Formats: sequence, structure tokens, C-alpha cells
Amino acid sequence: MEFEPVIGLEIHAQLATESKLFCTCSTEFGKPANENTCPVCLGLPGALPVTNRKAIELAVRLGLATHCTIRLDSQFARKNYFYPDLPKAYQISQYERPLCENGWVEIQVNGQSRRVGITRIHVEEDAGKLVHEGVDPKASYVDLNRAGVPLAEIVSEPDLSSAEEARLYMEKIHSLVTYLNVSRGNMEQGNLRADANVSLRVKGSEALGTRTETKNINSFRFVRDAIAYEIDRQREELAEGRPIVLETRLYDSLSKTTHPMRSKEEAHDYRYFPEPDLPPIRLEQAWVDAIRASLPELPDEKAARYQRDFGLSAYDVGVLVADRAVAEFFEGVVAAGAAPKKAANWVMGDLAARFNEDKAGPADLKFGPDRLAEMIRMIEAGEISSKMGKAVFEELYASGKAPAEIVREKGLAQVSDESALEGIVDRALADNPEQVAQYKSGRDKMLGYFVGQVMKATGGQANPQVVNDLLRNKLAP
Ligand code: ADP
Ligand code: MG
Ligand code: ZN
Repeated sequence: MEFEPVIGLEIHAQLATESKLFCTCSTEFGKPANENTCPVCLGLPGALPVTNRKAIELAVRLGLATHCTIRLDSQFARKNYFYPDLPKAYQISQYERPLCENGWVEIQVNGQSRRVGITRIHVEEDAGKLVHEGVDPKASYVDLNRAGVPLAEIVSEPDLSSAEEARLYMEKIHSLVTYLNVSRGNMEQGNLRADANVSLRVKGSEALGTRTETKNINSFRFVRDAIAYEIDRQREELAEGRPIVLETRLYDSLSKTTHPMRSKEEAHDYRYFPEPDLPPIRLEQAWVDAIRASLPELPDEKAARYQRDFGLSAYDVGVLVADRAVAEFFEGVVAAGAAPKKAANWVMGDLAARFNEDKAGPADLKFGPDRLAEMIRMIEAGEISSKMGKAVFEELYASGKAPAEIVREKGLAQVSDESALEGIVDRALADNPEQVAQYKSGRDKMLGYFVGQVMKATGGQANPQVVNDLLRNKLAP
């Protein structure tokens, strides 16, 4: 029998608020343990939660951008379970009346658009964190700085059919939440974590197979690798006639394998009930409409505009729009006068390579888009060669200085003046009589050899076109 994978993701995105979901404690990352706490997020008796309006606004923004229906009377619910990082012994989440439902996003798979359904987006509080290294190596400690930090949980339909699609989907969600400023999307700080639900079904059948849920995966690559492993593992189990066990698993990024953690809990295990300490969230349609009107241009719209207005390929625009800051930098370079294709090549090529190496982005740059545009103009005008352009770019990146100044300081200007080059051309011919003879006897390729000699002698600064013309003239019979 042939099987096909069925995948659905639950993604937790930390909402970019200053304070926690139900108290005024700071959400700042990296503070000393338990500094960001108060009676509410410590779960002390009698302390009462008050909903953070900003968190609701951010989740609504995300819901609108993902084509969800926004519920005007949504409600928080208690999800009861015991764990030492959860001081109240319940998490305030949403269950029956989530804030957003029935949306979708699009991903590009092998050049084709595919829709992935969003079942729901609800708001909930994060838990704290257990720390296993401390004064007493045998003890466990708890840090509640993260307890009560607002999350949006984005639950997808089981619409994904490969590990690679799941990765693309998670990247799309990351792109959206950062475009919208709904989440800072900092993966290293755990701002975006995915639970991957994976099952196999008989190819072509409608019925879903039993799934496993691999928890808390915090990188795009890990999502892909964890799912790829899980698909293979389940395939083997089925091939050997063993049933898939409905369970929660953990991903180990070192061995690239998943391991059982616990049997899967079900909704009734949590004894959900409406949160009695909080009133329902009542939204006014006008407020939601105002949020909709304030949405920025989103990645799909940007991509369509770049293709239409700039004539760039689908691949190029996909790369350019993924990160909003990069896209805006690129647009700045074009606005400053550079041809879109040239601007795209520099931004996706040399600049992206430096960003990768330095784990940096446009916000870290020492120069604005106008400087890159100026450098591109100098190359187009022949003031510097494209090879020298690379050197100018490196210096631009390092110092942020104006390209013209860099060229002056480093003496990188391209020499196009015939009178300045003639002597060097003459010497290249005089020094190589044998090659001249070969050229004259019909070996046209020797021309390239002479160009190379002149470029070497000028440290790459000679304008190759001018050198070519000079050589042809001098070698003409
Ligand atoms: P829970 O919250 O207990 O994990 P949900 O019903 O909310 O349960 O489902 C969570 C996720 O699991 C959703 O993203 C959904 O698309 C996905 N899912 C449900 N059934 C399957 C299945 N058989 N195979 C793969 N994914 C599934
Ligand atoms: Mg789940
Ligand atoms: Zn608090």
C-alpha cells in the first residue's frame, strides 16, 4: 500500500507587547530569574487578571491578515493541568470561542501557490521555565519571567503534505507576524515555536490516520527535519504492521530523531471551562475595521507588485519580500534611482551574504539605500568596474562611507582614458612578441591574454572595453 503524509501545525507566536497578558509585568527577555513577576503571574491567592488590550489588538491584526473571521464576543477559558512551571495549575487560554477562525495563508511550492487553512487563532498565556542548573546541581529551579507572556496560537488545518511544505508554511507565518509587528519573531528567544502533527494515510483516501504531535520545535530547519523523520518512522511502523500510537513526541536536533514524551492528552483531560475571573472580550466592529484599515502591505501583495512594476522573477520577489526590512531596503535602493534588477542582485547577493555571516539585517547597516544606489550608478556609468564594485561594496558595508569617497581613498576608479592606457597596452605587446605573432597568425583568442596583462598591470582598474579597442587597433594589420 502506498501512503501519503498529512501534516498540521500549531504555531505559538509571542505577541510583541511591553507587558504581560494579564498583569503589568515586563516581557523583556534575559532579565534575572523571577524579576518580571507579580502576584498575578505568580498565581498568588486573590490576585486577579486584567486583559492586555494590546495583545488582543495584535492577535486581531494577525487574524485579519490571515483572512480569518474575527469573533466579536470571544472568551478566555481555563485549561487545567499541573506542572511546576505553571503556578496557578491552570493556563488561561481560549477554547470554545477563540478570537479568530476560518482563515488561510498561501505558500509557494515549486512555483505554485497553495492555500493552507487556518482553523483558529487564539490568545493564551505562556508558562514559566524550569532551570536545571543552579546552586544545587541536584535541584530544579523555576523562572517565572515568561509566565503570563502573551502568545497567539495559530492552528492550521491538516493541509500540508510534506516536510518541506511545513517549513515553507512556518516561514510564511514568521514573515507575516514580523511584517505586521505582531511578534518580534526572534527564533533564538523562542518567539515562534511549532508543534508538528504528522500522520500517514492510504494514498488518495479521505480518512486521516492516527497522528503524533512533536512539541516545541523552534527553527524552520528543525520543523522540516523533525517531520521528515516522523514520516519515515511512521512509514516503517506501518510497513511492519505495527499501529501508530497517538502520542506527544520530542525532537532531538542532534540525532535528528523524535522520541515519545507522553501519551496524547485530550481536551476532556484539561477540564476546560470559561475563565470566571475575566469577562468575555467584547469587540466593536468599528475597532476591528480600523485595525484592518491600518494593515501594511503584506508579503504576497508586495511580491505581486514587484513582479508587475519591476519585472522581477517569481523567485527573486520571493526572496526579496520574505523579510520586511530587506524588502523596504530594496525599495529604497530602487527609489534612489537604481534599476530594479541590479538592486535586487546586490541585495539578494552580496548584501544577503553579509547579513547571513553577521546574523545582521538592514537595521544594523551603517549606510542607507541611497549609497548602494549610488554605487550601482557608478558601475553602470563605468566609473568603477563591476569587479571593483565588489571591493567598494565591502568597504561600504564596513564603514558606511559614500562610494565616491571610497573610490577616491582606495584609488579604485576605473581608468577609461585612452592616453593613460596606451603606454601600458604598448608595453604588454612589446613584452610578449611570441603571443603577438600567434595572434597575427590567426589565433584571435590571444586578445584575451593581452587584456589580462593590462588588467594585471593596472590592478584591475583599466576599463576592459577601452583596452579591447586599443589592442584591436594596435594589432590590426
Ligand atoms: P490538539 O490541540 O489536541 O493537538 P487539535 O484537534 O486542535 O488537537 O489539532 C491540532 C492540530 O493537529 C491541527 O493543526 C490539525 O490540523 C492537526 N491534525 C489533526 N488531525 C491530524 C491528523 N490525523 N494528521 C495530521 N495532523 C492532524
Ligand atoms: Mg496540539
Ligand atoms: Zn506579573
